[in-house]
Amino acid sequence: MLSKASTTAMSAFSSCSRVRTGFSVWPNVRQLCFRKGILYGFMRLFSTPYKTLRGGASRSLRVARFCSVANMSSSLQIELVPCLSDNYAYILHDIDTGTVGVVDPSEATPVIDALSKKNRNLNYILNTHHHHDHTGGNVELKARYGAKVIGSATDKERIPGIDIHLNDGDKWMFAGHEVQVMDTPGHTRGHISFYFAGSGAIFTGDTLFSLSCGKLFEGTPQEMQSSLGKIMSLPDDTSIYCGHEYTLNNTDFALKLEPGNKELRSYAGHVASLRSKGLPTIPTTLKMEKACNPFLRTSNAQIRQLLNIPATADDAEALGIIRQAKDNF
Ligand SMILES: [Zn+2]
Repeated sequence: MLSKASTTAMSAFSSCSRVRTGFSVWPNVRQLCFRKGILYGFMRLFSTPYKTLRGGASRSLRVARFCSVANMSSSLQIELVPCLSDNYAYILHDIDTGTVGVVDPSEATPVIDALSKKNRNLNYILNTHHHHDHTGGNVELKARYGAKVIGSATDKERIPGIDIHLNDGDKWMFAGHEVQVMDTPGHTRGHISFYFAGSGAIFTGDTLFSLSCGKLFEGTPQEMQSSLGKIMSLPDDTSIYCGHEYTLNNTDFALKLEPGNKELRSYAGHVASLRSKGLPTIPTTLKMEKACNPFLRTSNAQIRQLLNIPATADDAEALGIIRQAKDNF
């Protein structure tokens, strides 16, 4: 019986490798999720050690980056839901319990459509910050599904329908997945990021984008530098799910600052190719951002030279100058 389960596992992984080669990305990913569902059935039925399953599931991570549905750990799926002109909401689905959450629903309709397609309910709404393009769907979704709204205690007056107030360092559980709450101010005062350590995923809202960071509406360069520093302390293979599909636009500014950065040039080409096919560039990885994102490269000599940032300026001052240059770009 066990060997039957592992045969199923093998076929699931072979479907992974087909995805990796770039053929028929979307159908294969759907197939992958489906097969994983069967695989879980076998695993649970025959009590195969979870370790085997988790080890195998992590192998599909790299593949899933190119897809709308990612299998982040043995039982957590993350689905990108494009909203408004360039926002992303993310539907979280715990396969084991059927628990569903959504991160930053800008508007209700695309989220309702995505949930309806899979006949799912909605238990939680997670907000990274109070801006309307991250919370615009809260009230309608809460009324329709009875979902609990979760956000920063600092912004409890500004987050529509908030039920659960979180603070820096809190650990909140989503269907058995530990979610570490990180204060990441700079864009807004009460901005938080949700880090799913077990899945190696962080939802950064408008703090960290691919190749950029959020505008400093309510915070200082020092605060943003400290927020980005917290995110940079996570493992390099952390997947970063941000609030907007800005990556292609951001490549121009990043390349202007570092035209000789080979990794950036190669990433920019990859981003252009994905967008030309209408595919998302998110999630990105912390490793990629450290290599290419100017806001995580404040000590880089070429960037400093180009923007006349004095050698004596600290990283926060440099970040402030880079942010200003981008605002005027
Ligand atoms: Zn915002």
